[in-house]
Amino acid sequence: MLARAASATRSAAATAFALMLPPRCPGCGAIVEKDDSFCHACWGQLRFLTPPWCAICGEPFGDPAHAAARCRRCVAEPPAYDAARAALAYADPVKRVVLNLKHGDGTHLARVMAAQMARVGAGWFGPQALIVPVPLHRWRLWERGYNQAALIGRALARRTGIPISVDALVRTRATPASGGMSRTERFANVEGVFRVARPVAGRAIVLVDDVLTTGATAHACAATLKAAGAAHVNLLTFARVVWAGARPHDAPEETSNGES
Ligand SMILES: [Zn+2]
Ligand SMILES: [Zn+2]
Repeated sequence: MLARAASATRSAAATAFALMLPPRCPGCGAIVEKDDSFCHACWGQLRFLTPPWCAICGEPFGDPAHAAARCRRCVAEPPAYDAARAALAYADPVKRVVLNLKHGDGTHLARVMAAQMARVGAGWFGPQALIVPVPLHRWRLWERGYNQAALIGRALARRTGIPISVDALVRTRATPASGGMSRTERFANVEGVFRVARPVAGRAIVLVDDVLTTGATAHACAATLKAAGAAHVNLLTFARVVWAGARPHDAPEETSNGES
């Protein structure tokens, strides 16, 4: 009893202490005026993604004449997801936010990310919408302690009121890290590793992850969800690699959950 009272006092003290701490920029840790806001320097470096972009994967096009068109890659190999949208280009300070989510103050950063994602995904939050995070294999979950996609998904669910099913999709085996793999290798790496464990039939799935790289993981997840009867699968991420001039092996892990 005494121990519990002491621990309650401790946690109340921790909360009070957290409330006293000034809010910090999610990009660089500098003290900022408002909770969940970037400092001026980081804000100036953010590259918000806007149309024109590929109607399917959301890859930005330089030329407005291409609006509503599909990129060459989506024409050649249409992905299993209906569309993918990301709030920001994957470059500093967004990279740091994504890395810090894995190693730092997850809940706070997930809230910052969800705020940006709610804006980009606004058209997808209809009555049949269901948020499903890209799963982590249970061994990786055990290693890391949490699935960052699930943290972001929960923050997004709280913000939008859209239900979330954290275990609708499960990963049946751990896969090797995809850093350094070619695009083809990344697709082969995640083929057949997902399984649907909760009903998704007729739902408009909002598949959530932190970063979109080649889309291999999202493609495998979407194919599995559609085979189980999902009406739509749209991928919503905080950031995406913008491919203009980039090659797959320069890119980060295949989404952060793709490595596992
Ligand atoms: Zn900053
Ligand atoms: Zn595309």
